[in-house]
Amino acid sequence: MRTKVFLTIDTEFSIGGAFRSADGALPIGDQNVLCNVGGRSEGLGFMLETFKTHGLEATFFVEALQATYFGDEPMAALARRIGAAGHDVQLHLHPVWTYFEHPQWRQQLATVRPTDNMHERPLAQLVQWLQRGREALIRWGLPAPIALRTGNLMVDRNVYRAMASVGMTVASNVARAVFEPGDAALRLNAGIHWVDGVLELPVLTYADLAVGARQRRKALTITGTSLAEATCLLDRAHRAGLQAVVLLTHCHEFVKGDMRGNLAANRVNQRRLAGICRYLQRSQDRFEVTTMGRMAGWPQQAPASDDPLIGVPAPLAVGRMLQNKLNEFQWY
Ligand SMILES: [Zn+2]
Repeated sequence: MRTKVFLTIDTEFSIGGAFRSADGALPIGDQNVLCNVGGRSEGLGFMLETFKTHGLEATFFVEALQATYFGDEPMAALARRIGAAGHDVQLHLHPVWTYFEHPQWRQQLATVRPTDNMHERPLAQLVQWLQRGREALIRWGLPAPIALRTGNLMVDRNVYRAMASVGMTVASNVARAVFEPGDAALRLNAGIHWVDGVLELPVLTYADLAVGARQRRKALTITGTSLAEATCLLDRAHRAGLQAVVLLTHCHEFVKGDMRGNLAANRVNQRRLAGICRYLQRSQDRFEVTTMGRMAGWPQQAPASDDPLIGVPAPLAVGRMLQNKLNEFQWY
């Protein structure tokens, strides 16, 4: 059995410090996705090129509630560009953007704090956000999304109930190294699972180097995981018979510095993505790179997969720590 691999990108704009700034900072729009450096898109542009070079399809979870602040453009244009490049466009939601519905939002900060959680929300509220998000993508000329990734990977059962009620059948809402769900049944490390009629494919959570007696967990990301670790995890996942491995990244992981000023390409992270793509392209006998959209027809009766916690050997974890530390100080 080949292990399905999902390259997923949370494609979003940034609040840009608008909620804490006394100096009038405003949100950051398409630069947070394009990450232009000297006229070259080191974020989205780099990713699209890299996927094209290796003939791989990715899933872009596009955040839709930012339209409250920015209107339909510029995300509509970015989403259409992603779709036109042959990738899967699905829905990402950060409810914090709805704060901008208040015309006096800046004044209101003194009394009402913005919140961005998708868990612990009333069902009707979740349904309304999901419908808004779906309608936005349709309005932007994209197919109706069937898959969701919640903002901050925050999730509870109500999210799945809301999804089912609007016909969304595929989720990648869990990354327990990022957010540990209160419901023990949602604490999933990997694989393919049914949750209240919705297929959940968690971002891979793996065991990091233990510190003392404490087991530490990490999510499979570009910034947090070296190429050596990522290929090791893929091999181990395949050997363990895992049905799916989900990797999480963002366009802004491929640059470093200040989005509003001095920005540079993050070559370490760019090499990691390119390396993972090359590895997957060469290992098609063991891995099938596919998309969330293609999981829509997954049979209800398919058995839930096991949920082992895989890990990386200590030398690889230490190597990554050193590489990440060096990358903080290197300026290209
Ligand atoms: Zn997000």
